[in-house]
Amino acid sequence: MRALIITDMQNDFLPPKGSLPVPHGDEIVQPILDLIHQEEQQDFHRIVLVRDWHTRNHTSFARSHDLPEYSQFEYKSPRPGDKSTQMGTLWPVHCVQNTWGSQLANPLLKETYHTHLKIVDKGFLPDREYYSGFSDIWNFHKTELNDYLKKHHITEVLVVGLALDYCVKATAISAAQLGYETTIVKSLTKPIHDDEESMAALEKELEQYNVKLVDEVPPHKTVGDSHTLAK
Ligand SMILES: [Zn+2]
Repeated sequence: MRALIITDMQNDFLPPKGSLPVPHGDEIVQPILDLIHQEEQQDFHRIVLVRDWHTRNHTSFARSHDLPEYSQFEYKSPRPGDKSTQMGTLWPVHCVQNTWGSQLANPLLKETYHTHLKIVDKGFLPDREYYSGFSDIWNFHKTELNDYLKKHHITEVLVVGLALDYCVKATAISAAQLGYETTIVKSLTKPIHDDEESMAALEKELEQYNVKLVDEVPPHKTVGDSHTLAK
């Protein structure tokens, strides 16, 4: 069973008005909407919209630490007694719960009024950063995403949305580690860093985790596929 996971298609990540715009992110809104409308042809058993859903004082905001936006920061483990740390980037304030910035891009928001799209929130615990739609960066707090996919017998996921080199990548790697056959559709995502070196490193990392990166939505498997492939 196949699911489509759409990551972080929220106003703050979209140019020109978002506070943390992903370059060209606005260009994939309509293609993603078109893909939702092909739900049956594509055999998506479930469609999930993941939202970044922060509190006002979230630890990933530069403002919360009185530091400049985009500076590097050493996060300390939120677990008492755990001495581990992780380096991360401090962001402009973005995707604060129930604000315009955290709202889904308008055409996708409208779609949620009349279809059965499932919304999964991440980032709502204030003391830790999240990239993956499945968990925080420490893999301590799990969102409801894995339970939801398991409940609906999903074995294969397509991941699209923003940003390729952060939340899409992390969501895909988590999915692969959890045993889902995982594919990122390149034409339906945009990176923050699109230089050649970053892209090469990203491709290598995805390969390590057994995440496929393809240009277009791959056809879904049917019973006849093994015969087609054999010839
Ligand atoms: Zn965030």
